[in-house]
Amino acid sequence: MEYITRASELFPPKEGDMEGKCIICGRFTTKGNKIDFSDNFTNWHLLEEGEVICEQCYNMVRDQNHRRKSWVATREGIEFLKRDQFIPIMLNPPEPPFVIYFTKSGKKQGFLKLIDKVNYSKNKFWVAYEDDLIFVEFPSLF
Ligand SMILES: [Zn+2]
Repeated sequence: MEYITRASELFPPKEGDMEGKCIICGRFTTKGNKIDFSDNFTNWHLLEEGEVICEQCYNMVRDQNHRRKSWVATREGIEFLKRDQFIPIMLNPPEPPFVIYFTKSGKKQGFLKLIDKVNYSKNKFWVAYEDDLIFVEFPSLF
């Protein structure tokens, strides 16, 4: 099976000791963490069936900054974005692979939809805005 890079692989891992299938990315792991969402987590419909949150997905979903703020994730790390950076980053995205999440409300977990939408092109790429997934395509000029 072809290996697909998950968005969560761009975040620092947190290794647990539980075995099972990850509810975020669907991979099997022996280093999983307990599923410990708070009662007001509302995006169960975006999740896989499973028993754990894997070491790769844990920080992406449990660090509240990833819900409250807009960000771009690359192999170099996570950069949080201000609102006036939305358009510039769309017009000039970072070197791939990258993942971009925009939020105004800071209340959604729309970035969960990006789990298998890691971008490898600066001309065609996925962006999540709140709960919506948007495909951006720039026409080739040459
Ligand atoms: Zn996972």
